[in-house]
Amino acid sequence: MILYNDQLVKRGDVQIGIEDRGYQFGDGVYEVLSVYDSKIFRLKEHLDRLSYCAQQLGITLPVSLAQLETNLYQLIKTENVQNGQLYFQVTRGAAERNHLIPESSQSVLTGYATFKPRPIEHMEKGVSVITTEDIRWLRCDIKSLNLLGSVLAKQKAAEQGAYEAILHRNGIVTEGSASNLFIVKDGKLHTHPTGNLILNGITRVAVIEYANELCIEVMEQPFTLDKLKRADEVFLTSTVNEVMPIIEIDGKTVASGKVGELTRRLQQVYEARLKHL
Ligand code: PMP
Repeated sequence: MILYNDQLVKRGDVQIGIEDRGYQFGDGVYEVLSVYDSKIFRLKEHLDRLSYCAQQLGITLPVSLAQLETNLYQLIKTENVQNGQLYFQVTRGAAERNHLIPESSQSVLTGYATFKPRPIEHMEKGVSVITTEDIRWLRCDIKSLNLLGSVLAKQKAAEQGAYEAILHRNGIVTEGSASNLFIVKDGKLHTHPTGNLILNGITRVAVIEYANELCIEVMEQPFTLDKLKRADEVFLTSTVNEVMPIIEIDGKTVASGKVGELTRRLQQVYEARLKHL
């Protein structure tokens, strides 16, 4: 079943107009959420971010956040997805094609749940990444459906046998194509500050919280590619990847090439918290 505005319907019963602005302009926002043991990880934070992003673009949500919360739980129950992922998006809806924002259009929400195993093996062993220039727009804080900058970066990584592309603007590391990036240097965590250049990941916020609880200092300050390559530990975070160790960057190992100690500790806290959602 598919969540279609405020109803669960069969996939074939969803009707999206060819002039839907999500389809023609990427005019919409989306969220990806993880389901663990039939509970949605940090649902409130996802809904708050959705609300912020929609508001930044002047998109009116077709349902209230409370209704959406109920519907998402209904969706995972109906689909029997106890562990997996939820995807949903809201577009501005259909209107005669024109760049200008239509005075009235009915926004459209579609969403679905899928079973997807956690990337356990990668989390255990760590992954390799490449670095590439960040060619995205300057409102990366909005989780917009326009993803071509990320698509091209991730494709480039895959073509080089890497798991993710780490983006930089003029040598300053921003984030991954679909993840946030952290480094550890001399026992401190470093990550790019929030603002228009990165998406403030729900996992990023969770990891900063967990680090604070472990009394690990977190520096939310820009750092260079050079610093990234000299880091003691590097990991990325995202809903799908949780805390994912990076052991190789552009073909060179990070420190000794083994998953770092702080990364492991944060993975353990993350795991422990899943039991108390
Ligand atoms: N940055 C970008 C560009 C992303 O696409 C994602 C994944 N949605 C993230 C960061 C991580 O966000 P979250 O932890 O909310 O999944």
